[in-house]
Amino acid sequence: MTEAAHHPHPRDADCIFCKIVAGQIPSRKVYEDDELFAFHDIHPWAPVHFLLIPKVHIASMAQLDDRHAAMMGRLMVLAPRLALEQGCQPYPEGGFRIVVNTGAHGAQEVQHLHVHVMGGPRPWLRG
Ligand code: AMP
Repeated sequence: MTEAAHHPHPRDADCIFCKIVAGQIPSRKVYEDDELFAFHDIHPWAPVHFLLIPKVHIASMAQLDDRHAAMMGRLMVLAPRLALEQGCQPYPEGGFRIVVNTGAHGAQEVQHLHVHVMGGPRPWLRG
């Protein structure tokens, strides 16, 4: 049996976001369920800025396959709900921006798939 089959959330020992999921590095948690975890970005670009991630270690969007479709679907459906809970204003006057940096050309710095959810009144620092 593979490591993944033994462990519901295979981790990369060197991954900072795996450590956040495991509680080994502190974070300001926004949400958690069996598959997903969300926490405030440490360097926010916008009045609301949190990261929504799969608990399982997936390096980036580039590693997704059909087995991840249901989980990623849940993630995308959850994002608007959390955005409102965290203070984003309602669509269409308010709204939010979702960004998923992927790979070097996508300016990805942390190699654990994460969805940025940003919102709140402008101007923002970036984005
Ligand atoms: P990127 O990989 O370019 O999408 O960006 C990674 C994001 O993770 C940046 O916005 C960082 O501010 C954020 N980040 C890095 N380390 C932490 C941490 N320990 N807690 C919260 N956010 C973090």
